[in-house]
Amino acid sequence: MSTNNNPQRVRVLVLGGGIHGVGVLHDLASRGWRDVHLIEKNTLGSGTSSISTKLIHGGLRYLKRLDDFGLVTEALRERKLLTQLAPDIVKPIEMVFPILKKGGMPAFMVRVGLFIYDFLAGKNNIARHHSLSEAEVRNKVPVLDENKFRKFYSFYDCQTDDLGLVNRVASSALKLGATISERCEAEAIREFEDGYIVTVKHSDGSRSEISAQFVVNALGPWANAFLEKSNIKPTHIGVNNKGSHLVLPDIGMKAALFLQSRAGDGRIFFLVPWQGMTLLGTTESEYTDNPDDVAANEDDIDYLLKSCNEFLMKPFRRQDIIKVFSGLRWLALERGHNLSSISRHFVVGEIKATRGSLLTIYGGKLTTYRTLSKHIGDRILSGGGDFKKSLTHEASSWASPAESLKYLPASQRFQNYGVSHAG
Ligand SMILES: Cc1cc2nc3c(=O)[nH]c(=O)nc-3n(C[C@H](O)[C@H](O)[C@H](O)COP(=O)(O)OP(=O)(O)OC[C@H]3O[C@@H](n4cnc5c(N)ncnc54)[C@H](O)[C@@H]3O)c2cc1C
Repeated sequence: MSTNNNPQRVRVLVLGGGIHGVGVLHDLASRGWRDVHLIEKNTLGSGTSSISTKLIHGGLRYLKRLDDFGLVTEALRERKLLTQLAPDIVKPIEMVFPILKKGGMPAFMVRVGLFIYDFLAGKNNIARHHSLSEAEVRNKVPVLDENKFRKFYSFYDCQTDDLGLVNRVASSALKLGATISERCEAEAIREFEDGYIVTVKHSDGSRSEISAQFVVNALGPWANAFLEKSNIKPTHIGVNNKGSHLVLPDIGMKAALFLQSRAGDGRIFFLVPWQGMTLLGTTESEYTDNPDDVAANEDDIDYLLKSCNEFLMKPFRRQDIIKVFSGLRWLALERGHNLSSISRHFVVGEIKATRGSLLTIYGGKLTTYRTLSKHIGDRILSGGGDFKKSLTHEASSWASPAESLKYLPASQRFQNYGVSHAG
């Protein structure tokens, strides 16, 4: 990938190389647009898109909101499609949902949720939910202290290597003729008579300019700060919701656990076997500082360990922690909703120029990145006469594993961090 060889003029310039940025690039390239370029200030996927819970899922917990049923249905459809388009990196995983003896959601409510989840998945389902015997639970999640629970349900979602997915989608865009520059920071943006001009700062400190008819601001947690720095008023108020994870050693789990915290708020959290390790997450708290400095604090670590350990036969110790990581969910503020109940549905803010426009992404999920990208592609192309359909749902528009950019597998990315540390 080039670094300092940015083009001077393109039809579409995408800012930010997370899943949404590379998704938009792939979408446009799949429609035959070669004149599309992406700049990323670090390396592809170095933001939120490599520090998620790594689930490709409908989002069972989002069924709490009736108006999110559409989002869940769409995510369940995308879940199935991604297992077909990238089967080596998006794989089914069994989830065990234990029902607490004391407190928590009642069994009938969980059952209703699981029925609806199956119903919304329809023909895209992986397997219908069912109850599990204690012997089955012991086999699938031997660490669980069964005495705390009175019932167990099994359902399915999918798991991925999020960084691998970013790289696969980016490779697919490159294969179709799009271009990408890493270590190029979008510093400022201004309108001119033929669209927008973006000032780019290179890693050696030099600067250049790229003009484009359309600019897609896929900067996630950095999106509004970038606009404000250029004296552009964002169309939406954005909030950053911090989520932290602990990477822990393998504890012999064959299925993931979908658990309800008893440490205060009854929040859902996950304990997931992942690439020879165990992932524990996530917390949620509003974050207002510089997204570059986001890190888990001692409270986040304590909360996760405490929430999880009370359900395990052998608790995790702080010295077991291999790595701690935190990321930010970038969401459009919704009045009347707290952080965890804000919809994960995306919103696209548009600022029109005399010719062209600046589109900013709010919200979204790894799972639904393709539909968000298609929405943006449709909007960009609907302005011109030359409408071509997105082909990202077809395997022929995807790079094969052999054609993909190389990246460190998680087992190596997350090794050698030593004993417990918080940022
Ligand atoms: C804790 C947590 C867990 C999650 N778990 C899941 C999950 O299990 N499943 C799921 O579907 N979704 C999950 N999500 C949501 C999902 O991870 C995000 O919606 C998605 O990764 C956002 O991608 P993005 O491309 O918008 O942002 P990002 O991945 O943050 O990309 C923005 C990019 O912009 C770059 N950048 C910043 N400033 C500049 C600049 N000035 N110039 C150039 N580049 C710049 C950054 O380096 C970064 O790479 C989770 C989110 C969080 C926070």
